[in-house]
Amino acid sequence: MFLEKLVNQNARRGWIEVVCGSMFSGKTEELIRRLKRAQFAQLKVEIFKPQIDTRYDINEVVSHDRNSISSTPVPASSNILLLADGVDVVGIDEAQFFDDELVNVCTQLANKGVRVIVAGLDMDFSGKPFGPMPALLATAEYITKVHAICVDCGDLALHSFRFQQSDDLVLVGEKESYKPLCRKCFNQNQLDRGNVKNTNLKDEINEF
Ligand code: ZN
Repeated sequence: MFLEKLVNQNARRGWIEVVCGSMFSGKTEELIRRLKRAQFAQLKVEIFKPQIDTRYDINEVVSHDRNSISSTPVPASSNILLLADGVDVVGIDEAQFFDDELVNVCTQLANKGVRVIVAGLDMDFSGKPFGPMPALLATAEYITKVHAICVDCGDLALHSFRFQQSDDLVLVGEKESYKPLCRKCFNQNQLDRGNVKNTNLKDEINEF
């Protein structure tokens, strides 16, 4: 578990934390845990999420177990700078859906003394780094990678495998659309579905 360092508030130093992982890995729960602790400590907390994520509720960051905390949906990352004036802690959920400018926004906030906590999917459904996440991971002080459990074999899962056939990068959904898989099962599922153009993958898997 990530344990926060004790910070002298008078010094007001900002930094960036990233919580990443696949779907069903508990990213949002971890974001909410950190934010609620900060709220309890009387710090001014604001939470933002991209307007695209409307799975449950327009004004709340809601994790899969319905634990929630109120938030502001914004159309672009630049809106966060305007709305985060005078705030101690900024939480950002579903960061993978934001534009690339999010990295600069987080850097500016941290430079101004704000603690920035970002949660997001590190990989898309095809296993590629997702949106601004790789750049955020490179520039953050602290990174926590959380894992789901592979539903096929019970190992640790890092992939979000999509059942539905669609090439859209953004397909907001849940258990009906995605399942968490480990590397081996993800590759096998991709092969079984014919999703893989890489013919080497078959040989790579068979070498196990
Ligand atoms: Zn597996």
